[in-house]
Amino acid sequence: MLAIRLIERKRDGGRIDPGEWRALLGAYVAGHVPDYQMAAFLMAVFLRGLDREETAALTDAMLRSGGALDLHGISAPRIDKHSTGGVGDKVSLVLAPLAASMGIVVPMISGRGLGHTGGTLDKLDAIPGFRSDLSLAAAREQLKRIGCVLLGQSGEIAPVDRKLYALRDATATVEAIPLIAASIMSKKLAEGLTGLVLDVKRGSGSFLTSLERGLELADTMVAIGAAHDCPVVALITAMDRPLGRACGNALEMEEAIHALRGEGPPDLMEVTYALGVEMLLLVGAAANPADARRMLEGSVSSGRALETFGRIIEAQGGDPRVLENPVSLPQADEVEVFRARRNGVVTRIEPRRIGRAIVELGGGRRAIEDAIDPAVGFVIPVKPGDSVTEGEPLASVFARNADGIDRAMAALSEAITIGDAGTLTPLITHRVTADGVTAL
Ligand code: URA
Repeated sequence: MLAIRLIERKRDGGRIDPGEWRALLGAYVAGHVPDYQMAAFLMAVFLRGLDREETAALTDAMLRSGGALDLHGISAPRIDKHSTGGVGDKVSLVLAPLAASMGIVVPMISGRGLGHTGGTLDKLDAIPGFRSDLSLAAAREQLKRIGCVLLGQSGEIAPVDRKLYALRDATATVEAIPLIAASIMSKKLAEGLTGLVLDVKRGSGSFLTSLERGLELADTMVAIGAAHDCPVVALITAMDRPLGRACGNALEMEEAIHALRGEGPPDLMEVTYALGVEMLLLVGAAANPADARRMLEGSVSSGRALETFGRIIEAQGGDPRVLENPVSLPQADEVEVFRARRNGVVTRIEPRRIGRAIVELGGGRRAIEDAIDPAVGFVIPVKPGDSVTEGEPLASVFARNADGIDRAMAALSEAITIGDAGTLTPLITHRVTADGVTAL
């Protein structure tokens, strides 16, 4: 296989066969195909696209580039949840322990922040001592004992995805539906799941901003799951404003802890429960959505979900006392309040600007090796559609120093718009399964 022939063929709109995908990715992982050729190939894929068969073959080749979680001896249903990425999206931190507290096995492999979007692993790192780099053998033991493990992508799982992702990030080829779908599904299928729920974000804070592209991504991933005997349910949810109030790693962890105590913001709980309902329906643990929702709420109000999170944290080396005392999470040195400049209605809270500001404050990475400051970020209690009066606090800013505060305040001036009329768009709009799309 000569990489240049595959680049030429894809450039000219041709197809790549399953054997060629395996050979290309194998040669790339082994270092026989240089980054510049793979970058050219990815751009050809970005511009020409892949059909469903090619996307399935690419997913398969990525999956086979590494090992899988060995879950023998675990007979309980194994369901994971994945989000395509947004700002303020801490649903996984709440839903993973919540689902595990209800008998679902959740082998969750998460990522770090990407571009303007946050990552579950960075949020978990805010807990003193927490380790997400367990071996697959240790992960299996923890799954048997507690029913949930929160892992980072090790070199063992779909290793080619890590290399490809870094290259896509540097070559403007992230926003390609088949590449996103194969990247996500190769990692998820390596978890040995019996089902998967997906939160496909749409809106300016997500990678694919339009509804059409969100639906296409959801449908592509549902089809890949079906081809691998893994039923997938995707919900399309709004990312045209941040989810919840907190944006920034330690702040989001704190909000997730409050959510597990039953004090989460309504939009965060709505998305968490909607995805949790799908998990319970997938495993047949509830007869209908209303029952499933009641069961989830019961696990939060009884404290079982919080207790499960404590066991996970402790098993992974973290200090579970953060659950009683969230102020033991990293705290910013400087805090300032951002106020409304006029009377009116909040018309817009631009999530991409907020996410970029967190990166500028040091709470996200510009380069893969960057260390991040977990304490910085924003708490924004208002939503589009809220009436505000001049001088009213709209947000709190958390930064390392006075310069950070200035830059964060400037970012909020750009991100938050006050006008004369505004509304909140619906939070959860579509459900996508192998049977098709339902508008909610
Ligand atoms: N998340 C992933 O894991 N991969 C992508 O390509 C995009 C989002």
